[in-house]
Amino acid sequence: MTKSIGIPRGLLFYNFSPLWSSFFESLGMEVVTTSETNKGIMDKGASKVVDEACLPVKVFYGHVAELAGRELDYIFVPRLVSIEKGSYICPKIIGIPDMVKANIPAKSDFLSPNLNMRAKENHHQFLKEIAELMGENFNRVQKAWRSAMKVQQKYELDLLQGIYPEEVFFKSETLDNSGDLNILLLGHEYNLYDDYINMGIRNKLKQMGCNLITSNQVPKYVQQVESRVLSKRMFWTYGKSLLGTARYFREMPGNKGVVILTSFGCGIDSIVGNMIIRYLGKMKIPYLNITLDEHTGEAGINTRIEAFLDLLRWRREIDENNISAYGEYLGNHQRYAGIYGS
Ligand code: SF4
Repeated sequence: MTKSIGIPRGLLFYNFSPLWSSFFESLGMEVVTTSETNKGIMDKGASKVVDEACLPVKVFYGHVAELAGRELDYIFVPRLVSIEKGSYICPKIIGIPDMVKANIPAKSDFLSPNLNMRAKENHHQFLKEIAELMGENFNRVQKAWRSAMKVQQKYELDLLQGIYPEEVFFKSETLDNSGDLNILLLGHEYNLYDDYINMGIRNKLKQMGCNLITSNQVPKYVQQVESRVLSKRMFWTYGKSLLGTARYFREMPGNKGVVILTSFGCGIDSIVGNMIIRYLGKMKIPYLNITLDEHTGEAGINTRIEAFLDLLRWRREIDENNISAYGEYLGNHQRYAGIYGS
């Protein structure tokens, strides 16, 4: 009989879902993913988790709770400790298998293999554990993984070219990039691509004339190089990615700004977000920092976005009006130089 496995649509789902789905399908399993996040899912999650948890964790709980009542063989909640050499994932994500198992009684078994590539960059141990937990042949598991990796590589290439996950998952129409402002939308993938969590911010920005760029459109090696500016190497994978992307964005031409999506109660965001804000301040790149939790009001977000975009367009007008007939820039820095006498 075909075995089935449920994959919750939360946390690193947006990073690795093609890999996981294709892997289990190659093993001949039926893969069930939860629907997009909605109020019911979030409320269910929030009622089962400690108050201090960040919104993405609450949402993840809700997705697991959705699967918990279904007749499945497994629910896939891997313990992702490290996904690359020398770095770690967030402590809450590391601990999530124990947290959900303790709080959500499920009809099926949780499949929670350990992925830790901090010391050695290969998946051998992880796959071995999956084979043991599922009673599968190890060679078959390895083969399924190799073919799933190809699907994942194609997905990452699609994201690099500006295609959004839902376009890959649901084959919807590609949004065009014909706006007059270049906006870097910076945040963890579950904040960027879960439209319930971010209140549809990508569509809002698009409708207001923005071209969106995310960290997924910046190659990983560029992010790595850009994040090396710190005196001490950052050991959070996604912190490095966000910082590296923010630094890379300084090269982006045109009228631009950064919208940072952070999660209330997130330790990593409170440190990395602050570093990014300081850096953007130094580079004189305008930014808007939006902190998300389940109480964030959509009307307030709309007002802040509108004001931020007005500011960017106003800056452009000021700058354009300060070019003399001879092409000499008469903008702010000359004026400030006059004021401060330097
Ligand atoms: S990185 Fe931050 S937002 Fe993401 S799960 Fe960890 S605490 Fe939550």
